[in-house]
Amino acid sequence: MFAQAVSRVTGEPAPGDEIVVVDPTGRPLGRGFWSPKSAIVVRLITRDPEQPIDEAFLLQRIEAAQRLRGLVDLPDSHTSGYRLIHAEGDGLPGLIVDVYGDVLVVQLLTLGMSQRRKLVAAVLARALSPRAILLGAGGRGGEAADVQEGELLYGEPVERFAFRERGMDFELPALGTQKTGYYFDQREHRAEVERLARGRDVLDGCSYVGGFALAAARGGARSVLAIDSSAPALALGQALAQLNGLAVQFERADVRAAFERLAQEQRLFGLVILDPPKLVPTVKHLEKGRRAYRKMNAQALRLVAPGGMLVTCSCSAALTESEFLRMLAFAGLDAQRELSVLRVGKQGPDHPLMPGFAEGSYLKTAFVVVR
Ligand code: SAH
Repeated sequence: MFAQAVSRVTGEPAPGDEIVVVDPTGRPLGRGFWSPKSAIVVRLITRDPEQPIDEAFLLQRIEAAQRLRGLVDLPDSHTSGYRLIHAEGDGLPGLIVDVYGDVLVVQLLTLGMSQRRKLVAAVLARALSPRAILLGAGGRGGEAADVQEGELLYGEPVERFAFRERGMDFELPALGTQKTGYYFDQREHRAEVERLARGRDVLDGCSYVGGFALAAARGGARSVLAIDSSAPALALGQALAQLNGLAVQFERADVRAAFERLAQEQRLFGLVILDPPKLVPTVKHLEKGRRAYRKMNAQALRLVAPGGMLVTCSCSAALTESEFLRMLAFAGLDAQRELSVLRVGKQGPDHPLMPGFAEGSYLKTAFVVVR
């Protein structure tokens, strides 16, 4: 509920308090946490105005989220890293919980949730019996400003955690990674890249710790070059390649400069992946972000061997799928290449969507044949 939609506040709710929202006729719309300094002053957590957001309620929502993951075999013997709570999509706005084997990493995105972190952790501990629950990096700036990356919410201090994705072994430090540590939303797309990689030279642009690059190597790529600007991410990627006995060349560079250089060297790749950070953080940045995507995608297209493939991604919710495709069409013109989009994937099913909250759909991963 945006601040402009509120005509009147009765009582004196303190920031983070549970409040009931009513329509102009007094009919209750639901219950949520009050966040007067945010542009979104309330995120409704339940439609039932009588339902307190207490331990029993949280447990119910967490168990429902576990059952939902069970429907898509998460976890199973091959995959023990996945998203358990995806905020609105699991009826718990403000809360993200990622499972890394026996460690949980939590993001608290609203004041209400961050105030209740001990309660949330206690309920998670009851439902999942983890070894530890930690706070991850990168909450939504401002609203939950007092959260500290690495804070131990439950259990014993951990320095590293291990998990599996599709049978691949991962080990990451508890501190100093991006977000909660790994990007689970691309899991299914990595499986597809693994199938496509056989016999091809693969370039993974914006690789982070090499989720796509490792999948390509396991899929039988002829060579894999992974590029990222983050030195810690690349060091972790190197260790992960070794851990899994896979050959990936990691290179630290700004992807734009690296693409430029590879083009000058007339290098061509049978498969190029481009997964940049959120270039359109909000609609205000749409124009600038669109230009940045277009330029990077044109650069990437020039590196694809004729008949090869580009797997290009955008995690900007503010850039819709049709705008993303339009951007890609212009990038194709810039690079003078003809494109056929095989499919556009979204975040995996452990990132469910609330249909009335289109903003929750953020990831677009297009599989494109480049002629
Ligand atoms: N593909 C990854 C996730 C990528 S997240 C995966 O499957 O897990 C985006 C990555 O882009 C981050 O690792 C960040 O360090 C990197 N990055 C941001 N700006 C960059 C730039 N200009 N050049 C290269 N890498 C960049």
